[in-house]
Amino acid sequence: MPGRDYAATEAHLRELAEASEARLARGTCALDVVEIAVAELESCGLYVAGKGSAPNSAGYVELDASIMHGPDRMAGAVAAITGVVNPVCVARGVMEKTPHVMLTGKGAANFAREAGFEQVSGGDSYYVLPVGVTADDISEQKHGTVGAVALDNAGQLAAATSTGGTFMKLEGRVGDTPLIGPGTWADDAVAISCTGTGEHIIRSGGAIAVAHFHAAGASLREAIDRVLAEIKRLGGDAGIIAVTRQGEVAMAYNSDGMKRAALGKNQPLYVATFDG
Ligand code: ASP
Repeated sequence: MPGRDYAATEAHLRELAEASEARLARGTCALDVVEIAVAELESCGLYVAGKGSAPNSAGYVELDASIMHGPDRMAGAVAAITGVVNPVCVARGVMEKTPHVMLTGKGAANFAREAGFEQVSGGDSYYVLPVGVTADDISEQKHGTVGAVALDNAGQLAAATSTGGTFMKLEGRVGDTPLIGPGTWADDAVAISCTGTGEHIIRSGGAIAVAHFHAAGASLREAIDRVLAEIKRLGGDAGIIAVTRQGEVAMAYNSDGMKRAALGKNQPLYVATFDG
């Protein structure tokens, strides 16, 4: 939101980018790095995901998350899950402990409890308003998401995305974030995570459309811009982050801003919310 102060979140993103790059430098795989980064973004309460999520129109918090590993195209997701601290970890659990890609609602919550994933304490009193969000914002269709993409020393790519969704969404509403394809995508060439109005991202193809345009010869930035232009044409706003197998990073958005950070061997530390 233009005019609001995002210094605290930018400082947090800087620390997280440095911690993630240090993990990669120590040889931690991309899948672990994106999961750890997104779990931290969920747990800190600074963003509209995990602890910083707002209730749906029925008055309670439902969360969506997904994760994808490029080399083997393994993927996991949870949608409209309640009661867990880190939906992204449950998404990885779905990927590794079940034959499925996605669990939803009650089934996802039951799986998380039985598999021992951390439960929120104190019910919905666990949730806080993220920095920069006021109680007035909750009455509007505001939204937010956290995501991470990574390339590791072995050349493996991974992506993860997590959200509390749009404020005042209908009970049971699921956006792009837990959908492998629109919200999150990773293959041998590129890893991508999207944020924005989920309905428009789904209808544009989102992350997988970026991968396909890039595979067909567009530069990473051109591929992202084509998808963002389509989302805009459909009436939505969005932001997309991506990294290629060659370590090329691109981050772009058609909204007023997007809190973002990048760091890598050939990528100096970059942290920003608005242009410039
Ligand atoms: N994409 C998310 C959703 O539609 C919200 C966001 O990224 O702002 O649930």
